[in-house]
Amino acid sequence: LPFDDRDGTIWFDGQLIPWRDAKLHVLSHGLHYASAVFEGERVYEGRIFKSTEHSARLVRSAELMDFKIPYSVEEIDRFKMETVAANGIVDGYIRPVAWRGSEMMGVSAQHNKIHLAIATWVWPSYFAPELRQKGIRLAISDWRRPAPNTAPTAAKAAGLYMICTLSKHKAERDGYQDALMLDYRGQVAEATGANIFFAFGDELHTPTPDCFLDGITRRTVIELAKRRGIKVVERAIMPEEMEKAEQCFLCGTAAEVTPVGEIGPYRFTVGDMVRNLMDDYSAEVRRAPAAKAAE
Ligand code: PMP
Repeated sequence: LPFDDRDGTIWFDGQLIPWRDAKLHVLSHGLHYASAVFEGERVYEGRIFKSTEHSARLVRSAELMDFKIPYSVEEIDRFKMETVAANGIVDGYIRPVAWRGSEMMGVSAQHNKIHLAIATWVWPSYFAPELRQKGIRLAISDWRRPAPNTAPTAAKAAGLYMICTLSKHKAERDGYQDALMLDYRGQVAEATGANIFFAFGDELHTPTPDCFLDGITRRTVIELAKRRGIKVVERAIMPEEMEKAEQCFLCGTAAEVTPVGEIGPYRFTVGDMVRNLMDDYSAEVRRAPAAKAAE
């Protein structure tokens, strides 16, 4: 079903409107100059996982792009819940997006209106369940994540995704599920929509997020690993070091925790570290009712 032709309602600049009417003009600054930021969030059993963190990141991403969303974090949290309720979503995905409108058309957009829309839909699993069993296959992209003084790398900004789409398309054409991108220094950075972790012995290592998104799932996984007493090391990881890593996984709102079996010439097993963290993550997002958890 194409995304512009569905039933349901989308929250658009302050009101819930029919899904098919949520349109914008072709001379929107956001379309021409990528002055747009967005979020990706999941709803589990009717609750938005880490809603406030996502709303705060959306507001922060806009600030990094030099615009201000005309709503507070609390308001955005409330609008998301209204959208979820209006669409009867119990388990699904939420996509808030903010962009500059069409008052000025040119590089400068000092006076453009800032728009906000929120859509939600059912989106079970980013990678097919059978792939998650044995681990997905990643190609190593030729595209590199830019330096923090080349692009606003801490923002979840639309423009940063052109490299992701190019990397993912090339990987898919070559028969892979996703791509690993290195950063401007040649260090391991992230996949096209998820962060990456490696098990070296009984330690968990992950790249320091100094030029790519410090995912909310990434931070959750670090917390879950620490709860298990696993030592977590954030550091620069060079691609050749993947030779010595036994296990690997991606994590992100959409991908959740997804085991990786292969990255270019490197091979990984789906072992206890990955399986335990997959289980911990799915328990954490559903947060069993207190009575059950106490059993
Ligand atoms: N990196 C990129 C490029 C992403 O698109 C995402 C998904 N938003 C992530 C990392 C993971 O972020 P999060 O865990 O906050 O979803």
